[in-house]
Amino acid sequence: RKYVYDFAEGNKDLKDLLGGKGANLAEMTNLGLPVPPGFTITTEACQAYLASGREPAGLGDQIADHLAALEREMGRRLGDPDDPLLVSVRSGAKFSMPGMMETVLNVGLNDRSVAGLAARASDNQRFAWDSYRRLIQMFGKTVCDVPGEEFEHALDEAKQARGTTSDLDLDADDLRGLVDTYKKIFNKHTGREFPQDPREQLDLAIRAVFDSWNAERAVIYRRQERIPADLGTAVNVVAMVFGNLGPDSGTGVAFTRDPASGAQGIYGDYLANAQGEDVVAGIRNTVPLQELERIDKPAYDELLDYMARLERHYTDLCDIEFTIERGKLWMLQTRVGKRTAAAAFVIAGQLVDEGLIDLDEALHRVNGAQLAQLMFPRFQLDHEFQPVATGIGASPGAAVGKVVFTSARAVELAGQGEDVILVRRETNPDDLNGMIAARGILTSRGGKTSHAAVVARGMGKTCVSGADELDIDVPKRRFAVGGRTVAEGDVVSIDGTTGKVYLGEVPATPSEVVQYFEGELDPAATGDALVKAVHRIMTHADAKRRLAVRTNADTAADAARARRFGAEGIGLCRTEHMFLGDRRELVERLILAREATEREDALAALLPLQRADFVEIFRAMDGQPVTVRLIDPPLHEFLPPLEQLAVDVAVAQERGEDVAKEEALLAAVRRMHEENPMLGLRGVRLGLVIPGLFAMQVRAITEAAVECVRQGVPACPEIMVPLVGAVQELETVRAEAERIIAEVVGGNEVEVLIGTMIEVPRAALTAGQIAEAAEFFSFGTNDLTQMGWGFSRDDVEGAFFWRYLELGIFGISPFESIDADGIGRLVRIAAEEGRAARPGLKLGVCGEHGGDPDSVHFFDAVGLDYVSCSPFRVPVARLEAGRAAV
Ligand code: ADP
Ligand code: MG
Ligand code: MG
Repeated sequence: RKYVYDFAEGNKDLKDLLGGKGANLAEMTNLGLPVPPGFTITTEACQAYLASGREPAGLGDQIADHLAALEREMGRRLGDPDDPLLVSVRSGAKFSMPGMMETVLNVGLNDRSVAGLAARASDNQRFAWDSYRRLIQMFGKTVCDVPGEEFEHALDEAKQARGTTSDLDLDADDLRGLVDTYKKIFNKHTGREFPQDPREQLDLAIRAVFDSWNAERAVIYRRQERIPADLGTAVNVVAMVFGNLGPDSGTGVAFTRDPASGAQGIYGDYLANAQGEDVVAGIRNTVPLQELERIDKPAYDELLDYMARLERHYTDLCDIEFTIERGKLWMLQTRVGKRTAAAAFVIAGQLVDEGLIDLDEALHRVNGAQLAQLMFPRFQLDHEFQPVATGIGASPGAAVGKVVFTSARAVELAGQGEDVILVRRETNPDDLNGMIAARGILTSRGGKTSHAAVVARGMGKTCVSGADELDIDVPKRRFAVGGRTVAEGDVVSIDGTTGKVYLGEVPATPSEVVQYFEGELDPAATGDALVKAVHRIMTHADAKRRLAVRTNADTAADAARARRFGAEGIGLCRTEHMFLGDRRELVERLILAREATEREDALAALLPLQRADFVEIFRAMDGQPVTVRLIDPPLHEFLPPLEQLAVDVAVAQERGEDVAKEEALLAAVRRMHEENPMLGLRGVRLGLVIPGLFAMQVRAITEAAVECVRQGVPACPEIMVPLVGAVQELETVRAEAERIIAEVVGGNEVEVLIGTMIEVPRAALTAGQIAEAAEFFSFGTNDLTQMGWGFSRDDVEGAFFWRYLELGIFGISPFESIDADGIGRLVRIAAEEGRAARPGLKLGVCGEHGGDPDSVHFFDAVGLDYVSCSPFRVPVARLEAGRAAV
């Protein structure tokens, strides 16, 4: 098996095998860019090593062959005492994992070759000893786990002894002394001398890179980013070039566009007389890349030329690492660069303008998660605000509020109308009420899959998790950060996108993108590059998508907003809120009615109220379809809670008051009490048990439609029966509904469809039968997930999902993104069998999943007609539906 590839043998599409860094080094080599020669050891070698704990057979020989070729090409031998070849040993996995894995520079230096390196040019003593001390430091730290601080400490002491703060002021003798000190540190921690054999250095470094794949921080990072654990890393062995040879040398990073805003221009940092990590390590202050033009014009021009070539070649923003050795430019790394959500849209738009990509490709360059991010308000940070801590952006948004440390206090202050931020070390199920009450959640422990993160995302609430700079003292109700103390009631601002935490109130601006969707910003007139790009890409998504996008809305205001956001109908109009408030009493009367006439009176009183609700909604939707779900939740939700009522009645009896009415209510509540209400008397079951209830709703919907049509407003109601598990249930409801509809519609031009939710697994499995009685299906994937997995949604997410995520039982909550293998299969079966029984059956989804990017792609693939989601997710669903279609 071939485990080692020369750079000339690879290309950018071999990331699986060569890792991102190796594949792109190969690509640049083949483009003719000046890349120092080298070779890549494959991810397969790493996988074999990790599986067996030993280098696979043949690897050592292949490395020897490639090393020999490299030595021939360079005219130097690894670690040769007279004129040594030095190499870097660099990790590079398929997906970049910034700062997670290891790199060792200057491999091949030892007590003898350091002299050879020094002799390479005059006046190079200093450079040679600096390179050697760097090797011992990096090798010690990454290969042998010597604590890095010890080296740093020794370096500081050497600088102090010189009375300087810059490593540039250390001369050859200082550095030679430092090498001795470093060797002692190395020996103290490893019990052996620093290895002098260059090949041993190389082999140990390669092995360390392999091992770094399973370093704890890498494992945690992969889990958070959902990178598979078994990919392994490649290892790149690259001939060293030296940016630390003097003022005419240096090293830098460059971006072909601004990764923050997407703006075109020269972005990057340069550091003269420095090597590798120095730029990011902040050892000395870097200068902006533009300065390089003054420092070394030919190298600068050459770099700009390569940047332009790389952009054209990759047709995307690239980031670059380069080094200049005595005026000669070397390219050390490139990749398609990470960018902010805003930059992703702006750059995609620019690339279309430049003719580098077409609009279909532009759609692939952005995604719904980025669009969702751009719809949150943003902090205005052009002020004096500096973050005091940075955690993990666990659930996006910008939240400002007073700090509280307990759930109870959060509820209490929120009840007084205060905005609060709940601060906890980590949250647990007891914090749920506090999380609901808070504007945002801030924890000092846990990552993207912690309890706080999972629950906050489920609630759409801003959350920063794992801000470990925070020292939280719950009993004293305060936390310390950066030498300051923040007490209960102090205001903080948290950014759930960047993970940053600020003291005080950072002003927030509403999102321009939302203003655009609201119609308040004209994309043709604005100078805002982001809005223009979003408009252009959304327009294309709409032109391309097959899926329609509807919204879940119960009020005319929500419906109107959703239409501005691009919704093409209502996929779920819940009717339960229409029974709350002042109407609750009517519902109580309905439930408690002993005589048919009492019940009929209550229903008759509800009818006009319901009708008025529907008229408003039909008007707001102006002829777009409106799917109204008949009443779904268990009736006891409309009654007072049992315990409270029992206490009230007992107290009143004590006082000798007349409690006949309350007692009747209590008896009814007792009668209706259920152990598992979500599996009890709800949905269609209610309609079959309480005479007249569904009939009243059907009448209200139909009358509202007729009223609208008479006034010249088209109305397209679709009546949806919830929780059906057997066709007989639906047939019974349907028979009555059809009678009422025929009676109400009379001669008017109104069509009312009758369909059902598919949310009970049995319904999905008997969809062929159910379709005989349904003109449409709407998948209620929340309940379908709940019943399919047997997960009580209200209980499990906070209780143990973190553990399931940690164990990898699923990579994301199945309530957040559809479980394609299981619940998705139910959807697929129902769609196929439903359509087979009734061609033209309308299919949609109205669960939370309708606005989730991955789920949208799944529903597109299954062939549904539309997805429906909350108004705010409508643009995300439009974009993802477009992406699914190209
Ligand atoms: P990372 O993946 O963390 O960026 P790299 O493998 O790119 O790690 O290496 C770390 C630093 O060392 C980078 O700045 C890189 O440019 C520099 N470097 C790596 N190999 C060489 C080399 N052969 N010659 C000079 N500098 C190098
Ligand atoms: Mg790098
Ligand atoms: Mg349901």
